[in-house]
Amino acid sequence: MPDMWMPGAERRPVGNTAPMNGGPPRVTWHATSNDSDWSYLHERDFFASGGADVAPHLLWDPFTGQIAQFFPASSRALALKNATGEQTNRTGTYNIQIEVVFTNNESVSGRRYANIVDTPCTGLDRLMAWLRSLGVLDTWPGGAPRAWARQTVSLDVWRTRGGHYGHCHVPGNDHIDPGPMPNLFSTAEDDMTPEEHGWLKDLRDNVGFMVWSYKSSRGRDAYADLGAAADPRTILGYRNPDMDKASVDAGTGHIPDVYGHITGSGTGVKTIVDLIAALQTTALNDQQMQAIATAIAANSALADAIAAKVATDIVARLES
Ligand SMILES: [Zn+2]
Repeated sequence: MPDMWMPGAERRPVGNTAPMNGGPPRVTWHATSNDSDWSYLHERDFFASGGADVAPHLLWDPFTGQIAQFFPASSRALALKNATGEQTNRTGTYNIQIEVVFTNNESVSGRRYANIVDTPCTGLDRLMAWLRSLGVLDTWPGGAPRAWARQTVSLDVWRTRGGHYGHCHVPGNDHIDPGPMPNLFSTAEDDMTPEEHGWLKDLRDNVGFMVWSYKSSRGRDAYADLGAAADPRTILGYRNPDMDKASVDAGTGHIPDVYGHITGSGTGVKTIVDLIAALQTTALNDQQMQAIATAIAANSALADAIAAKVATDIVARLES
């Protein structure tokens, strides 16, 4: 069961929950766009009180990464108008409505931002992780929003296809938000090798979802930091970065070198590391080779499978 409240979001339940009508889960993106260019705090307090009758599930500030939640995922929100014959707020198992704190052409710290895509989109990775946990597909059934303009989809598309919609897509509505959006589905991870994906997965498994942010909330690329660091252990915190190496090596530092301790001789980890290293470098002897050859010869299906694997590997090498 996924979390009905987004991990890390500020909870501002407004009550007045009501069930969804079922169907493919989806997201509807909005922008708060208004003449006064209200702040996150103003919008949050508005939806939590006087504006509760038009509240979305989430309010997201793409400059600061602040997120507030007003309804649990399992309830309908109230930021859409119904279409004829369709309660659009209730379409889908989930219809997570997100108001982005953004006004078309707003200025922040002296810089003008035409569209949401131009903002730092701080916290988008955390949002997407939660939406994916709810089973929302990485797709725009009506195409990504191209402008502050209507791109209305048919009632049939709206009812039958899950994924991401803008308010501009929803049948029976006349709003044109959220305007051009960032690429929600592609990340720098697309450029990673399988090995790098493995490392990232290990790191995430070990550090945990909310702590580990591939692109951190301040726009730093933690993975790149890790790769570029002279000693990656300082990034991981194994070794105190403020301690100079000489004092650690001399054993005169006040904070132990945890990484060195774990992997040092005399620990179980060191023994395992050595065993694995030995496995990687030891060649098979003639007897072992013969035993393998005999086993393969006795099993034609295995021989075929190995031949296919070798051929695939050769092709991959030639193409790389
Ligand atoms: Zn809207």
